[in-house]
Amino acid sequence: MLEGSTPLDWHSASWRQQLRRRLRTWYADHRRSLPWRESTDPYRIWVSEIMLQQTQVQTVRAYFLRFMQRFPTVQDLAVADEQEVLRLWEGLGYYRRARQMHLAARVIVDQHEGVFPTDFDAVLALPGIGRYTAGAILSISQDQRLPILEANTIRLNARLTALPDDPRSKAGQDLLWEFAEAILPTKRVGEFNQALMELGSLVCTPKTPRCLVCPLKDLCPTCQQGLQGRIPLAPQKTVYHDVHEVAVVVQRNSKFLLRRCQPNERWAGLWDFIRFPVESDAVSDIELQKQIFALTNLDAGSFQALTTIRHGVTKYRITLRCVLAAGISGRINRSAELQWVTRTQLAQIPLSVTGRKISKLL
Ligand code: SF4
Repeated sequence: MLEGSTPLDWHSASWRQQLRRRLRTWYADHRRSLPWRESTDPYRIWVSEIMLQQTQVQTVRAYFLRFMQRFPTVQDLAVADEQEVLRLWEGLGYYRRARQMHLAARVIVDQHEGVFPTDFDAVLALPGIGRYTAGAILSISQDQRLPILEANTIRLNARLTALPDDPRSKAGQDLLWEFAEAILPTKRVGEFNQALMELGSLVCTPKTPRCLVCPLKDLCPTCQQGLQGRIPLAPQKTVYHDVHEVAVVVQRNSKFLLRRCQPNERWAGLWDFIRFPVESDAVSDIELQKQIFALTNLDAGSFQALTTIRHGVTKYRITLRCVLAAGISGRINRSAELQWVTRTQLAQIPLSVTGRKISKLL
């Protein structure tokens, strides 16, 4: 519980009325032109909402346009090959989102005759869709009176309520949803929800909110008490683990060997070079040969260093040593989801983030 926060005043009808009015006026002047805002097609809004989870607007813009060009309707997405969906998603991360969306498109075609459902429970029942996404899709496309709560509005609403609890806690979530429902207007709900997200994204930013230009500054208890740096309460610091891995480029007759990441692995469904964890950077050639044989059934003669990539995935800080294997002999184990690909195929197949970096080096 945060000390020094004030009692809430959003229970007053006039406070909420002022919030709606000021927010609408501000949004009319500051609304960004974004490709998914050009239509109220629930399919387009759904795709944009899924892409925007954990990803910046600027990054999503290009991905969204490419995705829509290739899959303009839910039917197009439903009949697509998963590999193609993942290839178009490559670089956005959190690939489970793409696989779930692909699955949901098939459910829409099988169970809803290819028409995106407009009933809240039916939307919520689709794979990969939670309360927030269902509310966003239906309020924006159908103007249904449904609240939303995503990263930007969690921060904004926490400040507008001077939320004393951690916004991820049950008490915090309950209060934020209650607030999100209480402030909803009776008309133009989709526009109102988008205005909240826009204000959170452009003005009520995480580190230095621009309170001086905020249309809600007179209504905001957090600003009035100078608690912007303390609300919302910060999550506990992540403890990072150092991990060492090796990626081996196995090349034979101008083809490269790739392995498909398994469902329980990072980047499940995407392809990668032969990759495995090791104790430390100082791994011997004999150890590399053993690991390659275990994963592929191939013998490697020698190794040449390519590069070292350092990257982070969730709580892991990974040091990836990349090597090129020479003197390859033997036959690959077909059941291990291995595939020889040409340089052209390498550009088309969905690869892990580091797999793509290595392929560019080649
Ligand atoms: S006044 Fe500041 S803290 Fe309050 S909502 Fe506006 S930007 Fe956020």
